[in-house]
Amino acid sequence: MTEVLHRTTRGRWGPRGTAAAAFASSVTFDDVSLAYGDTEAVRNVSFELKQGEIVCLLGPSGCGKSTLMRLAAGVERPDSGRILLDNAEVASDSRFVPPEKRSVGLMFQDYALFPHLTVMGNVTFGLKGVDKQSATNAARSALLRVGLDHLEKSYPHELSGGEQQRVALARAIVPRPAVLLMDEPFSGLDQRLREHVRHETLAILKETRSSSILVTHDPEEAMGMADRIVLMRAGRVVQIGTPDELYRHPADAEAARFFSDVNELRVRIVDGAAETPLGRFETEVGEEGGPALVMIRPQAFVRTGDDDERSIVAQVTDQRFLGDKVELSLLFEGLNEVVYARVATTGCPKLGETARFRLDHDHVLVFDNLGG
Ligand code: ADP
Repeated sequence: MTEVLHRTTRGRWGPRGTAAAAFASSVTFDDVSLAYGDTEAVRNVSFELKQGEIVCLLGPSGCGKSTLMRLAAGVERPDSGRILLDNAEVASDSRFVPPEKRSVGLMFQDYALFPHLTVMGNVTFGLKGVDKQSATNAARSALLRVGLDHLEKSYPHELSGGEQQRVALARAIVPRPAVLLMDEPFSGLDQRLREHVRHETLAILKETRSSSILVTHDPEEAMGMADRIVLMRAGRVVQIGTPDELYRHPADAEAARFFSDVNELRVRIVDGAAETPLGRFETEVGEEGGPALVMIRPQAFVRTGDDDERSIVAQVTDQRFLGDKVELSLLFEGLNEVVYARVATTGCPKLGETARFRLDHDHVLVFDNLGG
């Protein structure tokens, strides 16, 4: 019974470790800019994708992520700057290598499957210069890996969204590209399916060992998949680092807001600490007596017993059930605004009750640039 449920909700994937490995390339963006008329889609972008690395381009819609993918693929040419594959120029003022000569695989949000071709026809489509039998064998092996070997004669319209996504993935990996570019590859899938597909895709990316750039606007997706994240805003790179670095040390207030919900308190710096009604937070930033923005993530609040001297009292003015957590609206003494806290369901205080909390400083950020 469990097995049947598993298959119907998630689909069966092939055995791990069977995807064919590629020879990964590095990709370098060196001061790359591209404008469409007055719109500077990307501006002075520099970063490097190392061999075998998975980098996520993360940022809100319109920040230039897809443009960078098109530039890497060679379907756009930069106005200025250089793009290198394995340290060899593929785009610059003097040189331009067309897409088909770049060993770059593409997978787009809408999967872009050919409706008139079977699954097999779609997966073998990108295998140029390979004899038919070898192409079929390679495609079968990729289809087996994504668990769709039994559907090779089907047409895209006969498949579910999740299955189409897997065909697109098989098609992208079958030529063993040195670099795989994936633009919002999971956005067409519903929430429950998405997590599983992400997990399997990540396993396949690691197996193929190709370098991958993955575009997403979802910070959780980026944190779950990336070795490093390139955070973008309005055509520019804001910050580059591991998921942990970006989450713990966001470059500015806007970056912090992008990664999670936050409570924001505008306060002053006194004796080297941002002083708030919820406690003092030591900081290196800002000037004595100057303004500070304190951001407190809802998960910073930890319920304590009455005997914890560091804790502070709050009244619960509202609560929302989130499944594994409860979000509480809390009113603390000395603060006019409500503060949001996310706590475990078990032992959660009830509406109208008072309870004691302390703050986990790992989830508190202090900025002197007030960031709008
Ligand atoms: P993202 O992928 O982050 O959503 P894009 O790279 O698609 O962002 O777009 C960056 C900016 O460039 C946006 O302002 C968008 O409207 C603009 N843009 C993208 N492609 C074109 C195009 N072909 N013609 C004109 N403007 C474009």
